Amino acid sequence: MRRGGTLILGGGPAGSAAAIALVQGGIDPSARPLLIERQREMGDAICGGFLSWQSLAALDRLGLTKLRGATLDHLRLFTPRGRADAPLPRPALGVSRRQLDSALLDLATSAGAAVERGVAVARAEGRQLWLADGTQLAADTLLLATGKHDLRGHGRPRDDADPSLGLRVRLGPAAGLSRLVGSAIELHLFDRGYAGLSLQEDGSANLCLALRKSRLIETGGPAGLLAAIGRESPALADRIAHLAPGQPIDAIAAVPYGWRTGRTTPGIFRLGDQCGVIPSLAGEGMGIALASGIAAARALTAGHGAEQFQAGFAARTRRPILVARTVLMVAERPSLAPALLALTRLAPGLAGLVARATRIGA
Ligand SMILES: Cc1cc2nc3c(=O)[nH]c(=O)nc-3n(C[C@H](O)[C@H](O)[C@H](O)COP(=O)(O)OP(=O)(O)OC[C@H]3O[C@@H](n4cnc5c(N)ncnc54)[C@H](O)[C@@H]3O)c2cc1C
Repeated sequence: MRRGGTLILGGGPAGSAAAIALVQGGIDPSARPLLIERQREMGDAICGGFLSWQSLAALDRLGLTKLRGATLDHLRLFTPRGRADAPLPRPALGVSRRQLDSALLDLATSAGAAVERGVAVARAEGRQLWLADGTQLAADTLLLATGKHDLRGHGRPRDDADPSLGLRVRLGPAAGLSRLVGSAIELHLFDRGYAGLSLQEDGSANLCLALRKSRLIETGGPAGLLAAIGRESPALADRIAHLAPGQPIDAIAAVPYGWRTGRTTPGIFRLGDQCGVIPSLAGEGMGIALASGIAAARALTAGHGAEQFQAGFAARTRRPILVARTVLMVAERPSLAPALLALTRLAPGLAGLVARATRIGA
């Protein structure tokens, strides 16, 4: 059994940011954190890959300045009634999660954190963890950063009658697709969900959907859903036409959009999606993950307890999550989506205000 120390579980943006910030914060070398990540090579997580200006500023503070990606400068909103364009308050970047997560983990390693990849924790009781083969680990301080994936023993509540799901697929690369999407982050609203689309560093586009389970069941699964929403929206069909045959569609079940917590138990810092899940159409989940990792490292270095950190961080996520929940409630309803379109057309600046209100403060 491995005992003691600071253990970071999960090498997504939250876990990596915590590891980097802890080491950069000048932590005693004997107390350097160990980060455990179950993937040997980072893949493309189910995520739109929209890095907001706030996320980019956090990455900059951590020292990650050389990401390649597509510059995104405006929002393009589609509903079955038409389209509206609105400038983003500041430029964002479209990137693949493979690039981002790999670069963050490499930075954590080169900064001096111990990183073990290809190790999955199966369950936990407080700060005691068990690997699938029965190996036991115990941490003095546990930073829980398993993101979208709940760890048995530290699960988040699931009480939604019609839960939200996430899907992701890569389109292109193709010159025609690049011309269609350009420097936009596109949101295509449909009954009980939306699709987000933007270009990423290699010219391909990341099509990410968040929707209610009932809609997926009605359409007979991911392929049927893409066909159905393509029939409802010719603009979306033009984009989905660039889906290569055999391209995998990744899925995640039961995403608890809007959930957040300010509670924890001594020694357990909940980070990223494990402390709050902002509806993904806000494009700020990674911003919250990075901010939580940095804030937890600062709290640890200052000797603050987990409970104090958790309550303080929950206060920071309150407004962005509340605003994003409200927008999602409107966007998912076909009867209300036209109002969103009309407002965006009438007052494009309003979309910018909402975009600002859904950012996590520095
Ligand atoms: C459909 C959808 C679209 C989204 N689009 C955007 C977007 O465009 N922009 C944005 O900012 N946010 C977006 N988000 C949100 C964003 O993806 C998350 O908020 C963010 O990834 C959270 O980071 P994290 O580090 O907390 O968790 P994750 O990114 O989920 O990382 C967790 C890590 O922990 C590892 N792990 C999990 N369990 C274990 C275990 N038991 N043992 C070891 N390792 C483990 C995983 O392999 C993973 O690497 C989207 C989310 C969804 C669902």
